[in-house]
Amino acid sequence: MKAVMYHYVRPDVSNAPWYYHLDIEDFRAQLDYFEDEYGFVDRDAFLAAVRGDADLPDGVVLTFDDGLSDHYEWVFPELQRRGLWGIFYVPTSPYTQEKALSVHRVHALVGKYGGDAVLEPLLNVVNEEMVPDARREEFHTETYQNQNNRESVTTVKRILNYFIAYEHREDVLNTLCEQFPAANLDSETFYLRPAELREMQDAGMILGSHSITHRVFSKLSQSAQRDEIISSFDYLSTVVDGLDVRTFCYPYGGFHTFTEYTRGVLDDAGCLFSFNVESRDIQQDDFQTQPQALPRYDCNEFRHGDASGGVNSHEMQ
Ligand SMILES: [Zn+2]
Repeated sequence: MKAVMYHYVRPDVSNAPWYYHLDIEDFRAQLDYFEDEYGFVDRDAFLAAVRGDADLPDGVVLTFDDGLSDHYEWVFPELQRRGLWGIFYVPTSPYTQEKALSVHRVHALVGKYGGDAVLEPLLNVVNEEMVPDARREEFHTETYQNQNNRESVTTVKRILNYFIAYEHREDVLNTLCEQFPAANLDSETFYLRPAELREMQDAGMILGSHSITHRVFSKLSQSAQRDEIISSFDYLSTVVDGLDVRTFCYPYGGFHTFTEYTRGVLDDAGCLFSFNVESRDIQQDDFQTQPQALPRYDCNEFRHGDASGGVNSHEMQ
């Protein structure tokens, strides 16, 4: 069985030429391809296998990260037309704080203006004190060199998502957005609305937690990790009047983004299964040995799945 991960799925947009996204036509073509090549896993058969009540079914499971309004506007109708279902991982701070996540503000900056336009102004705002000692040398070698637009997109993302300490990120983004106002996102239209979440769950889609603030768990204190998990489940559950099942997916993903402690908290929270990012099929014994780190492919590892506009790797989101 293969789990496949998607983020932005939308038509090409001319006013945001660098926005990393999978074109809706490519998404449709990829669903056709999966149908022909592997088939799709039935929802109940999937859940029975996760619970250990049935053997592992063959086929593809579709997952969609970040709670984007794209998923209601473009993905949900397409799945419904085909009688398919998917798992949608939703971060909750866009609702509780009524503002867009930093990770998405970064996407908007480079997506609408391009890496070349943003890199230099960013380097004027970031000072070395914002970068922890351990990363300072790496920061220097990677950022202060001539780059083409594609590389500078990556560099902008690396600076904002990896190099600078979290406590400075918001301020830096606010300063940059004064210069690049179109990067200010309206959280109400950028993310799935509560009524849309309810409608999707009622139609058989599974909703899961993608934490509160979409930060790297392995960089957070234990109490912060616990809160990110427990409170996001509580919030989502309230919004949709009870979740069908508790499932989670790690922000960014990869084994370096969470710890044994994180997995334990997920177990404690009654989370049935969680997705990591790891390029391999799910095997039967994964449900017993690592239910809180199931492997998942990026859609760009399969035909028609090449996202355009930015950098393809989930790591770099
Ligand atoms: Zn995410």
